[in-house]
Amino acid sequence: MARVVVVGGGLGGTASAARLAKLGHEVTLVERADRLGGAVGFLERDGYRWDTGPTATALPAVLRDLFRKSGRPLERELDLVPVEPMREHRFEDGSAVALPSGSRAAQQQAIDAGLGPGLGDRWLDWTHGFADTWNLLRRDYLERPYSPDHVGKETRATLTTRTTLHRAVTRAFKDERLRALALAGTVLDGHDPRNVPAWVGMTAYVEQNFGVWTVPGGMGALAGAMTKRLGERRVDVRLGTTVEDLVVRDGRATGVVTDGGLVEADLVVCAVDPRRLPALASLVRRTMPALPPVVCHLGLQGDVPALPHEVVLHGDPLLVVRTGGSAPDGGAAWTVLGRGRLAEDIVTALARRGVDVREQVRVRVDLSPRDLVETYGGSPYGVLWQGRTTLRHRLGTTTPVTNVFCAGAHAAPGAGVPFVGLSAALVAQAVGKA
Ligand SMILES: Cc1cc2nc3c(=O)[nH]c(=O)nc-3n(C[C@H](O)[C@H](O)[C@H](O)COP(=O)(O)OP(=O)(O)OC[C@H]3O[C@@H](n4cnc5c(N)ncnc54)[C@H](O)[C@@H]3O)c2cc1C
Repeated sequence: MARVVVVGGGLGGTASAARLAKLGHEVTLVERADRLGGAVGFLERDGYRWDTGPTATALPAVLRDLFRKSGRPLERELDLVPVEPMREHRFEDGSAVALPSGSRAAQQQAIDAGLGPGLGDRWLDWTHGFADTWNLLRRDYLERPYSPDHVGKETRATLTTRTTLHRAVTRAFKDERLRALALAGTVLDGHDPRNVPAWVGMTAYVEQNFGVWTVPGGMGALAGAMTKRLGERRVDVRLGTTVEDLVVRDGRATGVVTDGGLVEADLVVCAVDPRRLPALASLVRRTMPALPPVVCHLGLQGDVPALPHEVVLHGDPLLVVRTGGSAPDGGAAWTVLGRGRLAEDIVTALARRGVDVREQVRVRVDLSPRDLVETYGGSPYGVLWQGRTTLRHRLGTTTPVTNVFCAGAHAAPGAGVPFVGLSAALVAQAVGKA
C-alpha cells in the first residue's frame, strides 16, 4: 500500500483519488477551496441555480466506468440521460440546424433539412472519416498510458500529423456553415484551429456515435456524488488547504508542502496546472493554458424564448446559450458563454443575434476568464494547443519524476468530462493495485 497525495479536488483529482483508494492505497486529497468538484458544481443566487462548468458530457461510459471501478455503479448515485437535440446551431445567414445526438441517420436528415440537401452526406463523410482514428487512439492513447515507443506507426503518425484541424475542415467542406459546425467545439474550448491537430476533430464522431448526456437538475450534482464516494472510500480530504510545491529528492517526490504543513507521500498525483507547482513548472515551461470563455449566468422571468439545452450562435463573437439551470416561479436560468470579439455587453450581443432577453433579466452573474482562472487556481480548459509539438511539451499520465503522475485537464489532450475522467483511469492503471 502506497501513501498517495492527490493535489487538487476537481473531477481529475477526485476521480484519481476514488480509483486509487479502491485499489487499496492510502489516499489524501488536498484542495484549496472549501468544496470538491473544481469547475463541476452549482452557483445559486436568489432562487436561481446554474451549473458552474459542464452542463453535459460526451462518452458517458467514462463516468460509468469511474463509478463502477470505485464502488457502486453510477445509476445508484445519479441519473444520466441523453440530451435531445444535443445542440442547435444558428448561423449568420439565418439558417439553423438542431443536431440530434447519437445517430448518423438523424444528423444527416437534420442537416439536409436545415442547411440544404446533400450537406448531410458531407457531414457524415467528415464524422465517419474519424472512425479509424477513434479506434486507434482509444486503444493506444486514451485508454492506456501513452508511450511513443510502445505504439504502432499509425498511432504515432496520427498524433504527430502536420495536418491541422483548420486545414482538414477547409478541405472537407465548401459550405462555410459546415466548417463552422466542425470547428465550434474547438473554438469554444479556447483554441485556434490553425494550431490544433486534425485528429482532435474526432469529438464530432464520438458525439454522433455515443451521444451527449446530462444529469437532470444539473451536472453539478456530480461534485456531490464524488464527495460521497471519497467519504465511502475513506479518502482523507483536506479542504481549504493549498499545495505550494512538491518535495523532490534524488528524482523522487517525498511529499507536498502545503500552507498547513508538510504531507508525506510515496506517490503524488498532480491534478492541477503543473505550471503552478515550482518543482514541475520547468518541465512544462513551453505550455500555455487554454483560457476559459466569458461566462454570464442569467436569472430570467417573464416571456423567455423556449430554447433547447444548448444553442450555438455562430459568428464573431461565438455565443453559446445553455438553458438547463433551475429557476423560481416559472422563470429560466441560462448561462451564456462568449468567445472572440466581445466589444459590447454579452446580453446586448445576444439580442443582436436574435435572442433578446434584456427585459427578462432579474439576476446576472458575470465572470471573466480571469475570474475563473483565479477561482480554480488554473484553467479548467487545460493546455492551449500551439501546434503538434504541444503533446511533447505538456505532461501526460507519467512524468520525469518517477513517482509523480498527472491527471485532469492539464494532463489530457483536451478539456471536458470525458478526457478528464479518462486521465484518472490512466493514473490508476499506471499506479496499479496496492
Ligand atoms: C464555464 C465552463 C463550462 C464547461 N462546460 C463543459 C461541458 O459542457 N462539458 C464538459 O465536458 N466540460 C465542460 N467544461 C470543462 C470541464 O469542466 C473541465 O475540463 C473539468 O471539470 C476540469 O477538471 P480538472 O479536475 O482538471 O480541473 P478543475 O475543475 O479546474 O479543478 C482543479 C481543482 O484544483 C484545485 N487547486 C488548484 N490549485 C491547487 C493547489 N495548489 N492546491 C490545492 N488545490 C488546488 C482547485 O481549487 C480546483 O478545485 C466546462 C468548464 C467551464 C469552466
